[in-house]
Amino acid sequence: MIRNITVYCSSSNHAPKAYFDCAARLGRGMAERGIGLVFGGGNVGLMGCVSDAVMHGGGTVRGIIPRFLEEKEVAHYGISELFVVETMHERKMKLTEWGDAFVILPGGFGTLDELMEIITWKHLGHHHKPILLLNCNGFWEPLLSFFRRIAEEGMVGKNHDRYYTVCSTPEEVFGILETGETEPL
Ligand code: AMP
Repeated sequence: MIRNITVYCSSSNHAPKAYFDCAARLGRGMAERGIGLVFGGGNVGLMGCVSDAVMHGGGTVRGIIPRFLEEKEVAHYGISELFVVETMHERKMKLTEWGDAFVILPGGFGTLDELMEIITWKHLGHHHKPILLLNCNGFWEPLLSFFRRIAEEGMVGKNHDRYYTVCSTPEEVFGILETGETEPL
């Protein structure tokens, strides 16, 4: 049962418009289905967009932000609950614990770091939660091709792709979560 989704995504206001549209659709769909959002607590970029969409749809949003980012005035105060923590590690623990599934929208270094961590932790058996890569405009293709390369070169197992599911649209994300048809473990 998916009650909360942790969304990792870009903090950039300069991302392509198509990604903002995708983030807004994801947020609206979550609110419609009564699924709460857990995210990094920023009011910028796709993070601000997805959280605003959930709030406007009447949903619940919990953000977790480290104090140094709050002090930079990038925290989102218009959400259901904002948790200010001391370290990035503390924040990541809450982000990984509070979501029942992870959805990854386009993003930069921060998003890549969060994605790699939850894939690695799943690989190590620390969690068994669905990880869905929302492949807006084929954003994740270069990374997926890199994953194939490291598998071909023997640095990850042949079944590396069972840790995540690639979706083209937010609607596909919901369909997969509702039917439970994520990657077999
Ligand atoms: P990036 O993809 O580099 O823009 O980083 C976005 C991810 O890192 C988000 O999922 C956040 O958890 C975290 N993050 C990076 N920058 C910020 C910010 N200004 N405010 C809040 N979280 C951020």
